[in-house]
Amino acid sequence: MQAIRKRYFPALAEYIRNGNEASLYQATELGKLLNGINPEEIIAIHEECMQKIVANVESDEAVKLYNRSFIFLIELMVAYRFRLLPDKSTEQKFTEMREMLFHSNRSFEMVKNKYENVLQHMDSGIALFDSDGILSFINLQMAKLLDIPRKTLIGCNIREILLHRRINLTTKRIILRVYKETILRRNLYYELQHPDGNHLLVTVTYGDQLDGDFLISVKDVSEYKQIEQTAFQNDKLAMLGKIAAAIAHEIRNPLTSIRGFIQLLRPHLLQLGKEEYAKIILTEIDRANDIIYEFLNSSKPSAPMKQSISIVSLLREVVMLTESESLMRNCQVQLESYEDELMVSIDVKQVKQVILNLVKNSLDAIEELNGERTGLISVIARRDEQYVEVTIRDNGRGMDKTTMSRLFDPFFTTKEAGTGLGLSVSYRIIRNHGGSIRVDSQVDQGTEFNVYLPLVE
Ligand code: ADP
Ligand code: MG
Repeated sequence: MQAIRKRYFPALAEYIRNGNEASLYQATELGKLLNGINPEEIIAIHEECMQKIVANVESDEAVKLYNRSFIFLIELMVAYRFRLLPDKSTEQKFTEMREMLFHSNRSFEMVKNKYENVLQHMDSGIALFDSDGILSFINLQMAKLLDIPRKTLIGCNIREILLHRRINLTTKRIILRVYKETILRRNLYYELQHPDGNHLLVTVTYGDQLDGDFLISVKDVSEYKQIEQTAFQNDKLAMLGKIAAAIAHEIRNPLTSIRGFIQLLRPHLLQLGKEEYAKIILTEIDRANDIIYEFLNSSKPSAPMKQSISIVSLLREVVMLTESESLMRNCQVQLESYEDELMVSIDVKQVKQVILNLVKNSLDAIEELNGERTGLISVIARRDEQYVEVTIRDNGRGMDKTTMSRLFDPFFTTKEAGTGLGLSVSYRIIRNHGGSIRVDSQVDQGTEFNVYLPLVE
């Protein structure tokens, strides 16, 4: 038995490699040794050897090899039968063996069909033309694109397809254009826009890998197109941002000198009884400076300077920074954290600014209640899957839906002395860190901001 197995593989492999009749004599030789062995065992050995052989080839090649291997097996069986007297039991064995062979062939066909099935249900449209230019296969998606039942066009060449009355004129025009661009002009890719607005990418594959067949695949790339366009838009915005930043920077210098000269003029205005004017000018200049400062902070084109740090230690620092101001405003800021080891990779200065912005907004929202209740601001850090969630919750005046919807717009503010930049800047910073911000609020109840930052694993 073991001896047969040993000889079987090289003999079969040689036959499959050469495919000539001379190599079949080994099958005859082996067949003579098979006396007393069960057909199951022979088939098992055959299967085992074939599996080794087909492991190295593509699936349709495997089907061919498999079919060829049956000739070897039949030869073997014939030799086996000749050795024995044709009594009933061998006859029966022979039938059994044949059935098993059928079975094994069928299971192989099923594997092949599985691949066909995959092709069938791919999200790209697929059409296969053979080397004579005859359509031999189209999948469901392609049939959908052409708006015909799958079987309609099988066996047609390109001329017949273009004349087919089941295909509408628009589709025909597209087919003709694709045919010209890919087959006649030998382009491997062709991109077009369907009259209904979808962008389609047509890919053609042919050559040795396909035995002379032409594989046409059509993919809907509208989504990618959209992403590309957004990226372009973002580039433009980034450019504008840079110009604006340069202008803002340039405005700061003259503002500083104006501020200086107004201060020099102040005593003279005082004499004229117009000190009020100086005050207004100075506060307005300070406001302009604030806006520029926040804007410049937000539009720094440089990438964030990241370092690994425990988010809780950063929050602790921010809470400390706001302590004196919150005391002044009759507020309590408390830090809650259940895990100390929440490490994030961030630009510390930028993220600190975000948390500070949020806490300051909370302080403002509490102040706007005019001492109605003691202010309470909770800063909470906890793990949320791959993210750390930082919550800043206050019992301030809250906000309505309209305010909520415009919250992150640059220059949107409801405060007299506000810049309306805090949240838009914070949003940008967190997005640049691969995170996100969420907000929930109830008028007169309070507000909760959630900042998500990716954890370092
Ligand atoms: P600014 O603080 O300069 O007004 P922001 O961008 O920081 O600009 O905030 C925009 C607006 O969002 C604020 O004017 C306020 O109306 C609202 N807002 C932000 N945070 C809160 C909060 N915690 N509670 C209530 N309203 C808030
Ligand atoms: Mg603010």
